[in-house]
Amino acid sequence: MPAELLLGGPLAQTLREEISRTCADLARQGRQVCLATVLVGAKPESVMYARSQELACKEVGMEFKLRSLPEAITQAALVNEIQALNADPSVNGIILQLPLPARIDAQAVQRAIDPRKDAEGVHPVNLGLLVYGVTQCAPCTAIASYHLLKSLNLDLYGKEAVVVGHSQIVGKPMGLLLLHDFCTVTTCHVATQDLAAHTRRADILVVAVGKARLVKAEMVKPGAIVIDVGVNRVPVLKRNGKPALDAEGQPRSKTVGDVDYAPIREIASWITPVPGGVGPLTTTMLLRNVAQAARIRLQEDRREHPEPPTAWLPFER
Ligand code: NAP
Repeated sequence: MPAELLLGGPLAQTLREEISRTCADLARQGRQVCLATVLVGAKPESVMYARSQELACKEVGMEFKLRSLPEAITQAALVNEIQALNADPSVNGIILQLPLPARIDAQAVQRAIDPRKDAEGVHPVNLGLLVYGVTQCAPCTAIASYHLLKSLNLDLYGKEAVVVGHSQIVGKPMGLLLLHDFCTVTTCHVATQDLAAHTRRADILVVAVGKARLVKAEMVKPGAIVIDVGVNRVPVLKRNGKPALDAEGQPRSKTVGDVDYAPIREIASWITPVPGGVGPLTTTMLLRNVAQAARIRLQEDRREHPEPPTAWLPFER
């Protein structure tokens, strides 16, 4: 029997309804939740991404501010812009749109964001808090992948989990999240000697690399849960192996993940399709981070004793 599909859309919908309620509740208390995106230059993909953030904000009743800055901006001036947003009480979350021009140290600028307004959950403080199980401002893609897995309500205790890819924003945090559920976690990367030997042991396999079809069916344990984070554009091929062309005679392309989807679907128990799996949840997690930041800020401003973080992970046994 083919694997069941682990879809991000329905979960994202439910979460967005919750976020809308939080935003409406905060607005009733005089706090309009607001996300600010800092965009340097006007790369079409970055502009498009900012536009999609704006639409997502609108959907949940969140205000959106775009801070468009010239391509030629200096690093110091960019940091000043971030600091102005840090100091602006009407802004609850900040995104620094990447990539930045090569002469700017993106990590240094990202670290200038107040961790309490770190919408993407990539500040070292928030990554560090993950070690303690605090996910208030967690890296969006990792927490989206984890949320999908947890939506299955399975007992993860003692399961073999293999994460392929060790980036700061996906692979490493995902490994930490799985550890909190008492999975035995293996992280694979570019220096891993025999990737298949590891992936074949995985009850839970998370692949976040960015290489189309890196993981083949023979590398997957029958019955595994497969979370495919990768997003890759590949050419569409005709039966004869030649590139398929669109109406304008241009090569057609499609989006695929990092796993060889069709044959793996035949042997896995659950699988996230690409597109449609992790992707729809990622932006939702970003909105969730901002709404939580706004709620916590309100409590702090009222000098109430802040609630214990709502997002402590369940330490299941
Ligand atoms: P990244 O920063 O480029 O990290 C990729 C990781 O894969 C690195 O740790 C790299 O190791 C490792 N790697 C490279 N080749 C490998 C191999 N042959 N075997 C094992 N590991 C290998 O990328 P990322 O930001 O983590 O993103 C990963 C993928 O997820 C990308 O396709 C990205 O587009 C996608 N993504 C999807 C979403 C979503 O919402 N669905 C969001 C973010 C990212 P080294 O660093 O040692 O080379």
